[in-house]
Amino acid sequence: MISKKHFPWETPVQYLKKVGPKRAFLFGKLDIKTLEDLLTFLPFRYEDRREIKKIRDLTVGKEAYVVVYGAIQSIALIETSRWMKIVNIAVRDETGVVHAKWFNQPYLKDLFKKGDQIMLSGKLKTNYFGGAHLEMESPLYELADAGEPQLHMGRIVPIYHETKGFTSRQIRSIIKMVLDQYGQDIPEFLPAPLVKKYSMTSLSEAICECHFPSSDASLSLLNGGISLAHQRLAFDELFLLELGLALRKKTVATREKGIAFNTASKYVMQLRNLLPFSLTSAQEKVFTEIAEDMGSDYPMYRLLQGDVGSGKTLVAFMAILVALENGYQVALMAPTAILAEQHFLLLKKYCKAFNLSLLLFTSDMKKKEKEDALAKMESDEVHLVIGTHALIQGQVCFKNLGLVVVDEQHKFGVLQRARLFEKGVRPDMLIMTATPIPRTLALTVYGDLHLSVIDTLPPGRPPIKTRVFNGKQRPQVYAYLKQAFTAGRQAYVVCPLVEASEKVDLKAATELSATLQKEIFPDRKVGLLHGRQKREEKERIMREFQKGLIDLLVATTVIEVGIDLPNATVMVVEHAERFGLAQLHQLRGRVGRGTKQSYCFLIAEYPQSNDAKARLQVMQKSTDGFVIAEEDLAIRGPGEFFGTRQSGLPELKVANLMRDVVILETARKEAFLWIENDPALNQPESIPLRASLERKWKGKIEWLTTG
Ligand code: ADP
Ligand code: MG
Repeated sequence: MISKKHFPWETPVQYLKKVGPKRAFLFGKLDIKTLEDLLTFLPFRYEDRREIKKIRDLTVGKEAYVVVYGAIQSIALIETSRWMKIVNIAVRDETGVVHAKWFNQPYLKDLFKKGDQIMLSGKLKTNYFGGAHLEMESPLYELADAGEPQLHMGRIVPIYHETKGFTSRQIRSIIKMVLDQYGQDIPEFLPAPLVKKYSMTSLSEAICECHFPSSDASLSLLNGGISLAHQRLAFDELFLLELGLALRKKTVATREKGIAFNTASKYVMQLRNLLPFSLTSAQEKVFTEIAEDMGSDYPMYRLLQGDVGSGKTLVAFMAILVALENGYQVALMAPTAILAEQHFLLLKKYCKAFNLSLLLFTSDMKKKEKEDALAKMESDEVHLVIGTHALIQGQVCFKNLGLVVVDEQHKFGVLQRARLFEKGVRPDMLIMTATPIPRTLALTVYGDLHLSVIDTLPPGRPPIKTRVFNGKQRPQVYAYLKQAFTAGRQAYVVCPLVEASEKVDLKAATELSATLQKEIFPDRKVGLLHGRQKREEKERIMREFQKGLIDLLVATTVIEVGIDLPNATVMVVEHAERFGLAQLHQLRGRVGRGTKQSYCFLIAEYPQSNDAKARLQVMQKSTDGFVIAEEDLAIRGPGEFFGTRQSGLPELKVANLMRDVVILETARKEAFLWIENDPALNQPESIPLRASLERKWKGKIEWLTTG
């Protein structure tokens, strides 16, 4: 009997029965190191082997899928052409023979041996070739070994991810043994009231059931990962995740005192009077939230999320003015030099009105210029600094930095975010993103940030019309551009993303702009903008474009974010199939910024992958960044979407952020409530929680152990 109190979660798998060093090594490849890892290594699907059919009773077309079990009678490898190799086997049970074949997996020939017992499951067909016979095409198979047939048949069977030298069947046997030994003793770690409140399956039962479901379980719920047992384990995972985030948020909030700004700002009042429009109610609401944070004496750590064109810059500028009026310095960081410049030009206009000094700080500044700028920052001679990554490099030092604004944060790694935060003093932070973060991710990856959302666009903007063209239809696109130029509008053409090489992208952009200028629009001015240009040149081109001296701006993706020119109403994206959804949405966001009807033309070459087609369809269908982000998440899966791997969060094995939103929200609510009531996790009911948390967030929780 194992003591529940000291359940050996952390026992290395090597010391489990039937494992040993060799298998422990193989388990390692599956990321399974401890008993806990093994217990929570869930099947990725289940197979219904409750009924094994006798071959005599097989009928085509009746069931979608059948399972048979028999001995391999013959094996053949047939090459029908250079490109087609078929492995064909005949399997016999005591009632008859059925055939199975697999395409282009010649290695199967050596895997199968005559006389071996094999289980096949799949769809049944009649093959009329060479005399009608029953056949299964590419069925799933499992070769039987000597042991425990009752474990692998006559039940709903778990199928595990395999690794070379370790089959699902072997893993199944080991997990069965481990569960026989430990399964009943797995201790509950969730507080009892919580388990009761949501009528949850006990942990022990949930783990056993996920591996070896009872015979009346629903296969579709199991395979969907939404059986009660799965939901329980998903809750655990998400609860621990949110518990960690709640702690982190608390630590950030209480770690150090920040600045309590006086938010009754005259500057902001004045700014409002200078503006040719009034703020949208969403902007007002968000500014109120920011001002509340700034007014309190804990360091603000807020994410401002708003779709492209929703007017984030202005809100940020109001926050900036508050900090400046309080006598603090402000740093505004943008992901590209071009965007930093644009911010600089815009804010320069306003800062003049307030007699504030500002400077632009980028990596391509001359040495003297840079030293000069650094000295000014250090001595408080300059109030507002606008820059790129260069701003977070080592030498930069502020006299009294009060606020950091990060624009378009999705372009910054998590690390950089952290570095800014460490910058000596404890400034308030406002992080802006136009890449809409789906709710689920806002609750997880960014769970320790406070969130403000601008959820409406300024009024009077007709939605952008989007159309997908193929390469042959380019003349149509150009004809439309001509019309737009005649009407006094401007346009962008974004060049194909050739590969992750700036050099090649550059060549493509240069060539395209030359062709467009010479051959298509000889009487218009075509400009070229890319990342490798000198600062002065970029500035000049942006200025010319802003002034309307350039009609068509050919650009690499350097213009992806931020650029704001309401008179540009057409966005053409070449090779749109190569871009991700978020990127396409950003690019499209460069137009539709005024009251004129705007267009986005996506030129896509054929053939495209299914994913690419899906992306282009989404773009045509919706202009809502939130919808697009959800679709993006669905197409790409959460892992890739935000690089959760690099986000410093524990990985999710059971829960799926898309599927389990409701569980996530519940888990979040309960976790935050729990931390509210027991911030140090030292109440008796919190002890097991704390232990689980420490295991889960190992190495990621300095704040737990120090805080
Ligand atoms: P984003 O959120 O994409 O950064 P910007 O801050 O660049 O958006 O704003 C987009 C455009 O909308 C700018 O030209 C800005 O001047 C304008 N704008 C911002 N707020 C309003 C408003 N309340 N009414 C009308 N136009 C606005
Ligand atoms: Mg912006």
